[in-house]
Amino acid sequence: MNTPVIVWLRHDLRLADNPALYYAAQTGRVIPVFIDDCTTPDQWSLGAASRCWLNHSLVDLNDQLSGQLRIFRGDPLPILLSLVQQTGAQEIHWNRCYTPHAIGRDSQIKLALKSAGIEVHSYNGSLLWEPWNISKADGKPYKIFTPYYRKGCLNAAPPSEPLPRPDLQLFTDEITGSDELQQTPVAELILDEPSWTKKITDHWTVSEEAAWQHLQQFIRERLPDYQEGRDVPSLEATSSLSPYLQWGQISPHQVWYYSQQQGNQPGLEDALDTFLKELAWREFSYYLLYHNPKMAEENLNERFNRFPWLNHPDQCQDWQQGLTGFPIIDAGMRQLWQTGYMHNRVRMLVASFLVKNQRQHWHLGAAWFWDTLVDADLASNSASWQWVAGCGTDASPYFRIFNPVLQGQKFDKDGAYIRHYIPELKTLPSRYIHTPWEAPEQVLTEAGVTLGSSYPHPILDLKQSRQDALSAFSSLKEQQ
Ligand code: FAD
Repeated sequence: MNTPVIVWLRHDLRLADNPALYYAAQTGRVIPVFIDDCTTPDQWSLGAASRCWLNHSLVDLNDQLSGQLRIFRGDPLPILLSLVQQTGAQEIHWNRCYTPHAIGRDSQIKLALKSAGIEVHSYNGSLLWEPWNISKADGKPYKIFTPYYRKGCLNAAPPSEPLPRPDLQLFTDEITGSDELQQTPVAELILDEPSWTKKITDHWTVSEEAAWQHLQQFIRERLPDYQEGRDVPSLEATSSLSPYLQWGQISPHQVWYYSQQQGNQPGLEDALDTFLKELAWREFSYYLLYHNPKMAEENLNERFNRFPWLNHPDQCQDWQQGLTGFPIIDAGMRQLWQTGYMHNRVRMLVASFLVKNQRQHWHLGAAWFWDTLVDADLASNSASWQWVAGCGTDASPYFRIFNPVLQGQKFDKDGAYIRHYIPELKTLPSRYIHTPWEAPEQVLTEAGVTLGSSYPHPILDLKQSRQDALSAFSSLKEQQ
């Protein structure tokens, strides 16, 4: 039990239900390691909001590990090999990651470690169903969500039950040696944070404990109204668990089992079913990415390779800054900028606006989300953008173009969400909150709104842009 054993932590920054940590703790003195992997391809290196979340997660984890988390930066293989050499560890444990880069990297590292005589143990700590365990009767992967979930997942072996926190004996010796083993002091991670990150850390508590509080509060207070409430952006009706799931402050297994134990009450069956289904969308996104490793770069539906995107990155600026003149779109983009998060319904609206009304490539929107979302996740982000753009496997049909005015009137009836994120429209009467351009001059004056000055005129004509998008789509059919 005295032998050192390395646990390489990645998207599993928690103590409870952490298979790698749990099983490593049974074999020796644990060296918990996080490596800031500089081999990640540039376009998928962490976005700014994710970086902020990660730094705070590492601080929390280090506190929970009595200051013994070892943080390195560089190429993971030489770092792990040096660690083995310096500490005498003979085993490395990790929980599997599922992005194409991580899968390739981990299998190479596994091979190299094994040939150096090191035992490698990998586990599932982040998905309810690993992609290779679910397939159709003919052995092919599912392409459509509902059969994937209902026929595939729900008939497969149930997700493993959460493990308790391990009884950890930590390796506390000093680790020195080669250049690779230069550690990043945890305190430095958040010492020089840029000032803009404050808005994120004011909004969120980034810790394993906070993840649990979100889950418990959600099941206790929000689950009963989840089905109706989840589409209303002004209500805090959803779990807000996505960034915690992304960085593993909580596992989907914990969420899956806790919500069924606590939420399985008469009258809540449908709400619970809907919530579990949402969790399964996350699984489906990973499933799609596993079977389509280029999903973040290439259209799943190749027909869209010929789509006439307008592709002017400069035209995205109004969208990015929440200055399109369409209040629900602008409120969503400002929520993102102010909190690192955006409500799911509004994510669909802003994405549809960018790819359909503005006809900008979905890559541009996905890249902005990648940089600004605290829950930025390669699988869910690319699957969702492809879904909205119409080029995914189970996509929203291209001709379904959300009308931001009608959607706003339906889901943010009195404009509470808009008023919160666009203070310059705060006192505009509800009748005009979704269409300020229709308000009589006197109403605008009384509300202190000057279109074109305090709030923009609409940047496009909704009817015309919808028509143009549909014609562009028809051109694909004609070319077939
Ligand atoms: P809840 O409603 O409480 O759902 C519980 C959990 O289920 C979520 O935490 C999430 O893990 C999962 N989930 C819910 N809806 C979806 C979905 N449609 N797809 C995949 N998983 C889902 N989600 C991300 O986690 N990362 C992303 O980068 C991301 N990018 C998106 C981009 C676009 C254009 C769109 C339309 C959606 C995107 N989503 C993404 C999905 C979804 O918007 C968020 O997961 C959800 O808003 C998170 O809020 P919540 O935790 O309160 O969700």
